[in-house]
Amino acid sequence: MAEETIFSKIIRGEIPADIRYQDDLVTAFRDISPQAPTHLLIIPNVLIPTVNDVEESHELALGRLFTVARKLAAEEGIAEDGYRLIMNCNQHGGQEVFHIHMHLLGGEPIGPLRAK
Ligand code: 5GP
Repeated sequence: MAEETIFSKIIRGEIPADIRYQDDLVTAFRDISPQAPTHLLIIPNVLIPTVNDVEESHELALGRLFTVARKLAAEEGIAEDGYRLIMNCNQHGGQEVFHIHMHLLGGEPIGPLRAK
């Protein structure tokens, strides 16, 4: 079984986070180290360590990440100007927390996808 991360504790309310949305499938909260004026993390409540571990049974929760992204982008007032959704996988992708999460970044131009 995969090892829990700090994100499981945030889902259960055991450690504080600025939670912006939660339902039976997903939780969204502000990133502790924001890289843009809006930087939210949207995560499935079920522990999936990386995108490599995604299974068909996860499709409902993973689809919910996008509907919650749309809702939160509207609430943050960044929908029209735009934003970036990112999911990092493993070392080359820059993943640090092994509970998959969608970054929602906006509020200013995010810049090129890959800074050289
Ligand atoms: P990754 O590099 O794995 O794609 O992104 C992990 C993100 O989680 C980072 O942006 C980091 O700032 C954020 N993060 C790590 N620990 C915590 C925490 O305890 N609380 C919150 N709100 N964000 C965290």
